[in-house]
Amino acid sequence: MATQALTPLSKLKTANLGFPRMGRQRELKFALEGFWTGKRTEAELLETAASLRAEHWKLQKSAGIDFIPTNDFSLYDQVLDTLVLIGATPERFGSGKITLERYFSMARNSKEQTAMEMTKWFDTNYHYLVPEWSAWLPFTVDTTKLLNEIAEARALGIEPRPVLIGPLTLLLLGKGVDGFDPFMLTDKLVSAYQAVLHTLAEQNIEWVQIDEPILATDLPEGAAEFFRHAYAELTKTPVKLMLTTYFDRLGSNLSLAVEAQTAGIHIDLVRTPRQLNEVLAALTPEQVLSLGVVEGRNIWLTDFAAAQEFITKAVAALGAERVIVAPSCSLLHVPHDLRSETKLPTRVKSWLRFAEEKLAEIAALASSEAAAFTANLAAIADRATAESSTNQEVRSKLASLLESDFARKSPYSERTDKQRAELGLPLFPTTTIGSFPQTAEVRKHRAAFKHGHESAEAYEAFLREATEHCIRQQEEIGLDVLVHGEFERNDMVEYFAEFLEGFVFTEYGWVQSYGSRCVKPPIIFGDVSRPQPMTVKWSNYARSLTSRPMKGMLTGPITILQWSFVRNDIPRQQTAWQIALALRSEVNDLEAAGIRIIQVDEPALREGLPLRHADWETYLDWAVKAFRLSTSGVEDETQIHTHMCYCEFEDVLPSIAALDADVISMESARSRMELLDAFQAHGYPNEIGPGVYDIHSPRVPSAEEMGELLGLAINVLKPGQVWVNPDCGLKTRGWPETVEALKNMCQAAVQARIHF
Ligand code: GLN
Ligand code: ZN
Repeated sequence: MATQALTPLSKLKTANLGFPRMGRQRELKFALEGFWTGKRTEAELLETAASLRAEHWKLQKSAGIDFIPTNDFSLYDQVLDTLVLIGATPERFGSGKITLERYFSMARNSKEQTAMEMTKWFDTNYHYLVPEWSAWLPFTVDTTKLLNEIAEARALGIEPRPVLIGPLTLLLLGKGVDGFDPFMLTDKLVSAYQAVLHTLAEQNIEWVQIDEPILATDLPEGAAEFFRHAYAELTKTPVKLMLTTYFDRLGSNLSLAVEAQTAGIHIDLVRTPRQLNEVLAALTPEQVLSLGVVEGRNIWLTDFAAAQEFITKAVAALGAERVIVAPSCSLLHVPHDLRSETKLPTRVKSWLRFAEEKLAEIAALASSEAAAFTANLAAIADRATAESSTNQEVRSKLASLLESDFARKSPYSERTDKQRAELGLPLFPTTTIGSFPQTAEVRKHRAAFKHGHESAEAYEAFLREATEHCIRQQEEIGLDVLVHGEFERNDMVEYFAEFLEGFVFTEYGWVQSYGSRCVKPPIIFGDVSRPQPMTVKWSNYARSLTSRPMKGMLTGPITILQWSFVRNDIPRQQTAWQIALALRSEVNDLEAAGIRIIQVDEPALREGLPLRHADWETYLDWAVKAFRLSTSGVEDETQIHTHMCYCEFEDVLPSIAALDADVISMESARSRMELLDAFQAHGYPNEIGPGVYDIHSPRVPSAEEMGELLGLAINVLKPGQVWVNPDCGLKTRGWPETVEALKNMCQAAVQARIHF
């Protein structure tokens, strides 16, 4: 059986590309937050950080990792650290030596100043601070952090391979201030990186991991030229560069990457296994190849037999001394370790690998450990045959779907008249996005219930009271379409996942989202199904309290998918459609209970886009179908809403239109309705609720201010198309400002009606 495992291979070198920073018990989070609130001193914070680094290096070493990263650690974000390193932090935060206070002022909003902008790191849920490129930047290199971490590792007897974000990735992830062309900085940026590499060479550092994940994307004009120039210079310094790519294939950038003649290249073979052959064929005779065979983005055990095939092929082509076994990308995107988990079902747990366990996999693969291979084969087989992961009913439902299951009964033009008659709404109907203030009291009750200090009955009673209060408030405010307030929900994905079959939950499976913020994604291990209704009770209770239309509130299939760890043994599309089927039953049940407006939130639709444009169409096709599958089971009279938060719509607008939601709401107050131009240009036919006030701050906009925004929207759209609502849910707001702002919003709608 285990013939693969017995193939005699000399032990290969192993590498890690980055380790989670937070610590097993999120020690860094608490140290940071303690420092920010003044409960801990700077020295205490730095002490915690140093001991976490030391612990993490030691465990990588004892796991058998040869190339151990330093400078992958960060007190907030590695992109910000890189800006500090090369002296390119924005002017508005001052100049000179970066103190801890100044460092955090760039990362976090304060009364005095808005922080740097934050956005998602490629297609992950990690957020980085966006570089701000301008002619002002001094580029005075500061290697303090870089060298400190090297010294710390060496003091532990560890010879590190420091990590740097490469110059092209850094440049392209940033934005030019006031139209400044970032490529103007080419020479300064390259000199700064040269200086850094020279310093590392002086420290007798042999290898440097230089991350250029941007090479896995479609490069803009000028990028290739910049890259060639930069690496022609950087490869002159006497350190070996491991040009590290991940999250997708090198594809059309393969020759660019290889011709840079770095000492080594790392590729992601989990996301794109097929690129191995072409990479092997393209490498120059001395180049080392680092094989990303253990997934750094997901939590499943590695299929050793498949990984071994890649390794064997690479060794046959290059020789063992030119092959390194590694994770696909930094392990930052997976939780720390599995040992702390006591509540996971044993069988599912045996299929999981978090960061620490992934290190063990890398070591076992590199040394072809027979025992580890045998165990792996058994676990893989167990997972493949586990009946608990398969639900035949769901499978056959999916297999027998018809075209008509993905389409509403009639086109929007017919539905809209029926809905108007059914709902009797005025022009410019007013509504909210779903959640109302999750006050300290709400959180207190939830925590008490969760920890067993409050009975289910008492908690229910509290939720009923909160819901009723919310409805009375909305009536008094004068909203047209009400919501129940979402007080029973902890989180917009976890709440649903807890009702669904096919999910499990960790206790400590935290992953850094940004700064000290972590998320704990649910794990989808099996076929998803809905044994019972999830929201009908609360929506129906809310409906019974008022004569106004009540909007039901669900999280969409793609958002549930994107914010979970998804099984990798069936295509993502299938899991998405399984979730969609579960939601379809929920939508139908809500309708049957008399809820005639149902909102299915899809804020993560855009987030799921593949990095390469060539792959967009396939994704958008199944993602849109997932939404349509969820929402097409209802009568024409039932109105389907969706909400997208902030989203750059222009390039995906045809897909947004293809969702065929009767009403879409989104953030648009801060950009002053700018994004509506794209909707108009596209001739978007259905109804739109462009947010008329920014919910991210407690500021209460006046009716005039919202009226002005509404006017802008009415100018661009047809009056009958426009809904009036805030940008997003109100859960982070307080009640007083919420009531005041919504009253102003309703007044703005009334004013607009008078004009039309
Ligand atoms: N219905 C959710 C709410 O109002 C939507 C949240 C979101 O868009 N992220 O909170
Ligand atoms: Zn939103």
